[in-house]
Amino acid sequence: MKDLECPFCGNVPESRPDFVVCQTDGCAIAGIQISREKWRVRPGPKRKWTDEIKSVVSYLNDAAGTSYRHGTAVTQRFIRARLNEGFTLEDFELVIDDKVMKWGKDEDMADYLRPQTLFGGKFESYLQVAKREEAIDRAEAEIARNKHREIEEERRWQQNR
Ligand SMILES: [Zn+2]
Repeated sequence: MKDLECPFCGNVPESRPDFVVCQTDGCAIAGIQISREKWRVRPGPKRKWTDEIKSVVSYLNDAAGTSYRHGTAVTQRFIRARLNEGFTLEDFELVIDDKVMKWGKDEDMADYLRPQTLFGGKFESYLQVAKREEAIDRAEAEIARNKHREIEEERRWQQNR
């Protein structure tokens, strides 16, 4: 059950089967029995995303050959902001793979394979590009597989004539 929070004093009230009551001395509604639906839910603690941040930074380091530390404040800030917006680890990996592929070979661009560029304000547009290209790659692979199958069938047909 989610924690409730007293709208007057901010403390956690006492939950009983039929009602909820704040027991804090001096609170404006102390001792008054109020039905559960009227109490507001205490907001959950802000997530720190520690494991996710570590995972993203080590993925970047492996892919780009960099050695960023997951404990650096600026790195944490950008990754945490994107995680708070609802982006997933898979989204980060897609963007990293795509940009490493495109920027990694170019000495000047390789400098931009850093957390504040990759995971900053352009993250969502980078992700859209990466997703579109992944879809194109999948389609091309499918076409190549079909072509291969046709050639194989043709060869078998020739052999059995
Ligand atoms: Zn209270």
